[in-house]
Amino acid sequence: MMKNEKTAKLPVPRGARPGQPGDRSAFGFEISTQLPGHHGRTGMIRTPHGDIRTPAFVPVATQGTMKAVLPEQMEALGAQCMLSNAFHLFERPGEDILDAAGGLNEFMHWDKPTYTDSGGFQVLSLGAGFKKTLAMDTEGKKSDDVIAKGKNRLAFVDEDGVTFKSPLNGAQKRFSAEISMQIQHKIGADIMFAFDELTTLMNTRHYQEKSVERTFRWAKRCIAEHEKLTAERTGKPYQALFGVVQGANYEDLRRKAASQIGSLGFDGFGIGGAIEKRIIGDICSWICDELPEGKPRHVLGIAAVDDIFACVENGGDTFDCVAPARTARNGAVYTRDGRWNVKRSAMRNDFRPIEDGCDCYTCKNYSRAYVCHLLHAGEMAGATLATIHNERFFIRLLDDIRASIDGGYFTEFKNDTLSRFYAHGSRG
Ligand SMILES: [Zn+2]
Repeated sequence: MMKNEKTAKLPVPRGARPGQPGDRSAFGFEISTQLPGHHGRTGMIRTPHGDIRTPAFVPVATQGTMKAVLPEQMEALGAQCMLSNAFHLFERPGEDILDAAGGLNEFMHWDKPTYTDSGGFQVLSLGAGFKKTLAMDTEGKKSDDVIAKGKNRLAFVDEDGVTFKSPLNGAQKRFSAEISMQIQHKIGADIMFAFDELTTLMNTRHYQEKSVERTFRWAKRCIAEHEKLTAERTGKPYQALFGVVQGANYEDLRRKAASQIGSLGFDGFGIGGAIEKRIIGDICSWICDELPEGKPRHVLGIAAVDDIFACVENGGDTFDCVAPARTARNGAVYTRDGRWNVKRSAMRNDFRPIEDGCDCYTCKNYSRAYVCHLLHAGEMAGATLATIHNERFFIRLLDDIRASIDGGYFTEFKNDTLSRFYAHGSRG
């Protein structure tokens, strides 16, 4: 593994000094406008690779790339930052490759802020299966041993960490608080998440209680390892560490987890774990009651437009969501009038843009008929054009929400946007 220092293509990040640990003051958060009567606010997260105006949408670049879209195109459509997945990068190509490349930014040629999640979600998903399948199969029953139909349990949790079978090659591997921190430091994102235990809504109350305590112990171990690695790995920018609040649907557990995690000196917080859609806003609100005001909060893995409004209103600052990219590849496009499929036969000779008035590259240059044709023909450009439109939709949505909070018209904007988006029974 050779690295020629002269090949570094990006500007030196803020707070990186030769022979010195990363300067923690290169990371910070400032609140601009508080939403009256709620935890929601606008603000700015400062990182070594630049600033993020919040609330912000965080596109998901799971494998160190947005699927089908280049970083230059992501920048052009207004992306302020991207989130990659520590577990996937650990599996392939391995964190040492990213370290040798000079970190995630250099490796993927993206000079704006980056996040990595801890890998906990992916590792624990191997154990618990997938909650949607679970919920359908086992309605009304709680069990800690249920797994998704047709799946084998591939991960086992103990006090120290998780042992799992690699989905790539079946090899037995291990994740723990320390290992997650070592991997994430080598990947080098501006914002990392502490390793937490994911539970599902199927787990019993007793298990959720034990899990919150275990996540708290793991959080302390993450901070200790993070401080050690920050001191050892000199010459690099400071990487901020966010603690993750678990506790499923239980108000008392969420509040307890938030006050525990909030007491530990993290740079920010992640709101994670099993969340039932109907109370997603309440959960954010309970948590934000307990967390320190002046630190950023990221809601992990949002799924829908109405969820974004609920989470912004109740204190979320940033949101990652794979839905716009994943659904785009199947032809589902988001517009102000809902989500619909551009592969429908009626689109074959419809020469309007996907959305009238959309300022994205796709809508400015291409028709529904062309995108429909590309997707049916299996052409990669079809995925690219649909993804560009959908990512732009969510980035602009968060930009508009931010303007509505600063401008004092958030509630009207929320009501107008949601009634129009869901008027035709749209999903998403
Ligand atoms: Zn568009």
